Amino acid sequence: MSETQTREQIARLGESMFRRGLTFGSTGNISVRTEDGWLMTPTGFSLGDLDPARISKLDADGNHVGGDAPTKEAFLHTGVYSVRPKAGAIVHLHATHSVAVGCLADVDPANVLPPLTAYYVMRIGQLPLIPYYPPGDVELAKAVREMASKHHAVLLANHGPIVAGTSLEDAVYATEELEETAKLFLMLQGMKTNPLDEAQVAELKQRFPIKS
Ligand SMILES: [Zn+2]
Repeated sequence: MSETQTREQIARLGESMFRRGLTFGSTGNISVRTEDGWLMTPTGFSLGDLDPARISKLDADGNHVGGDAPTKEAFLHTGVYSVRPKAGAIVHLHATHSVAVGCLADVDPANVLPPLTAYYVMRIGQLPLIPYYPPGDVELAKAVREMASKHHAVLLANHGPIVAGTSLEDAVYATEELEETAKLFLMLQGMKTNPLDEAQVAELKQRFPIKS
């Protein structure tokens, strides 16, 4: 895919997620790895109203070399890429149900959501919780790098998910799967539920290994 096509794809998928309420205001950001660095959504813009030509360009060292200034959360993206060489794209949203789950007390910080559906297991699998840090805190960058070295999807407590994919479509679909599963999990609170069992999860992980 050419850089122009990638820019258009970022704007199209950003608009799609914004239109469906997966993100709001100027929150949420997207990045895609290119041959010579990254494309990243700019700071202060709604994902619903991106101009492909103004999407930020970063070189391989993370320096801003084109377009508008990148999101203030760029360090979350570059941190994950630095420990996940196969990641081709990253989506970070403040999606309501995912954020809600990241605010719950008494969740398992090693794996916040139960395996409710096969597609959740195939796209996310395990979701660790990273403790709360104020935005921009260097300790947050460190915690994200550490956890992302072992997991392609992580949830920031009281903030939102960061999900890496092999491609932008892959990262977007996984983020959407996570948000819908968080919604199901909240709908099922207080009800007796049957998540997939250990053997069912193990079989899915073997047949559909996560590649990002
Ligand atoms: Zn954020």
